[in-house]
Amino acid sequence: MNKNRTTGLAVAAVLSVALLSGCEAPSLAKLLSSGDQQAQPSAPASGASSEGSENTTPSSQQEEPGIQKPPSLQETITMVEGVPTVTNPTELSVVVNKQRALPADYIPPDLVEPNVPFPFDEKVEKRFMRAEAAKALEELFAKAQLDGIELYAVSGYRSYKTQRSLYETYVKTQGAEHAAAYSAVPGKSEHQTGLAMDVSGADAKTRLEEPFGETPEGQWLAAHSAECGFIIRYLKGKEAITGYSYEPWHLRYVGKEMAQEIMAKGITLEDYLSEDGTAQKQ
Ligand SMILES: [Zn+2]
Repeated sequence: MNKNRTTGLAVAAVLSVALLSGCEAPSLAKLLSSGDQQAQPSAPASGASSEGSENTTPSSQQEEPGIQKPPSLQETITMVEGVPTVTNPTELSVVVNKQRALPADYIPPDLVEPNVPFPFDEKVEKRFMRAEAAKALEELFAKAQLDGIELYAVSGYRSYKTQRSLYETYVKTQGAEHAAAYSAVPGKSEHQTGLAMDVSGADAKTRLEEPFGETPEGQWLAAHSAECGFIIRYLKGKEAITGYSYEPWHLRYVGKEMAQEIMAKGITLEDYLSEDGTAQKQ
């Protein structure tokens, strides 16, 4: 599946430089955002604060220089009214799953509409992603096009309220078991982070269906998503860790470094962020 990975990466590195320059995500309306009350981490990278000149002890063992691993799963969870809730909803490394909810009122601070094709015309919230993810999605779709692969963005941001009605509909029409396997309880959908996008090819028959993974578009995504910072979030064979069935269409933005390591190792986001490198079966 990843035969051309190395070559692809090299080519991609060149391409991304070319593509990035003209690829500003259109900051169309902040539609749903009620403003970023979240303080942005605005510390400039250069010349880190020199006060307290104590030499930082290298407490983190074999970290590669420059690549700071994000805090672990265990460090980013707290109980809120009896619900295990993430403490880092705005971070690219946030993990939301059946054991880890977003704050119910969480709305990403910087939602924009990526300039990519959608298979529908409605101006609805599912077009949106957080700004950095939207820009990366444009880059990904542009790369795909150069390879003759036509992609569509099917479903991105989903508010708590939308997820709630979706889940209720699922339970009514498909039964509780199906709902539990394919849908998320409100507050526990990764789509509420604004970092996820469901992607399809032109063929509606495989849209959001497992056979999508066998299509040229699905194969292309598996091989190339990481080049633009995306992972296939719900892998085949990892259901016990992610809590979800295989979803070859569900892309999650985590940034290039993290995505490339995760996809190269064939592991889940949970594994990557676990203290011992392997997510516990919960
Ligand atoms: Zn999805």
